[in-house]
Amino acid sequence: MIDIENYNNSNIFAKILRKEINSKKIYEDKFAFAFEDISPQAPTHILIIPKAQYCSLNDFLEKADDQFLVGFMKAIKKVVDVSKLNNGYRLITNIGNFGGQEVPHLHFHLLSGKSLSKLVSD
Ligand code: AMP
Repeated sequence: MIDIENYNNSNIFAKILRKEINSKKIYEDKFAFAFEDISPQAPTHILIIPKAQYCSLNDFLEKADDQFLVGFMKAIKKVVDVSKLNNGYRLITNIGNFGGQEVPHLHFHLLSGKSLSKLVSD
């Protein structure tokens, strides 16, 4: 069971932010860090994470101030722009056990590079 109530800074994305673990960086600013997913589910599969300690989107929407909320969302668009996703993309965030979240640091999956299949399968 994943704990998305209490932030644990030993999670793998916290380690990536601290540069304790290598990643393939796509984009970075003061709000966000974006890097390639280690197990890509599409030709383009980028993870976008806030440079702050939020377990999930719930946590982020409850606790982040307006400047951070806007800055982080605009960073997502910057990742889209630098990745030249002119034919569209899918943006997903998994929340908690039923959402399929594995890493308890908020992250958006940015998927593109082909026509993607239906969103939900059993
Ligand atoms: P989620 O299931 O939404 O929590 O997604 C976690 C994602 O993190 C998965 O798509 C993993 O492939 C990815 N992932 C796990 N460890 C790493 C890592 N060290 N570098 C890049 N991506 C990772």
